[in-house]
Amino acid sequence: MHQEERPLVGWSPVADSPEILETIKKNKKSSLGWAVVLTLLFPVGFLIAGVVSDEVPLKEALIIGCGLGLFILAINLWRFAGMKRRGWDGAVVKKMEKRRYKRDDDGSSQSYTEYIVLIRTDGGKKKKIVERKRDREMYDYLDIGDRVRYHPALETYEKYDKSKDKAIYCNVCRQRNPISNDRCERCSNLLFK
Ligand SMILES: [Zn+2]
Repeated sequence: MHQEERPLVGWSPVADSPEILETIKKNKKSSLGWAVVLTLLFPVGFLIAGVVSDEVPLKEALIIGCGLGLFILAINLWRFAGMKRRGWDGAVVKKMEKRRYKRDDDGSSQSYTEYIVLIRTDGGKKKKIVERKRDREMYDYLDIGDRVRYHPALETYEKYDKSKDKAIYCNVCRQRNPISNDRCERCSNLLFK
């Protein structure tokens, strides 16, 4: 019955539903709150350390604290700007695995694999989803040729044709759900189908 109401082929109307718009608003508020807390945490923390501890000079503590605070602020501003950007539709053109090397502090290097999904948007731009082995969900979920929509306010992806899938990923919290679910098992938000 649900399948008739919510066909598995096509962009989900859930994305524009009042409930999801409300969720987006709430999420934005709480991540804004966290951004403020984290931005202040370092300057305040280092100020206290500078005042309390004899080993940490106050001036240095303040410089480091404010520096880290500004760094956190910059990261958050960049993220919020991204969330306001317009979404896009596109198609998966390529999937690839790339071996990368990370140099540790002690000079040794570690290798890991990046799983990359290349998407060409309808506007002709190239987009990349880069994942690591432990959370390569989109890499496994998306196939070459699949139509994909990016929801910037939620920073998640939606597949156009979900009719052959056994699972669907929550666009709010990214939890994997059985395709038969209408709501997410973890956050109980509506699934995009
Ligand atoms: Zn969820």
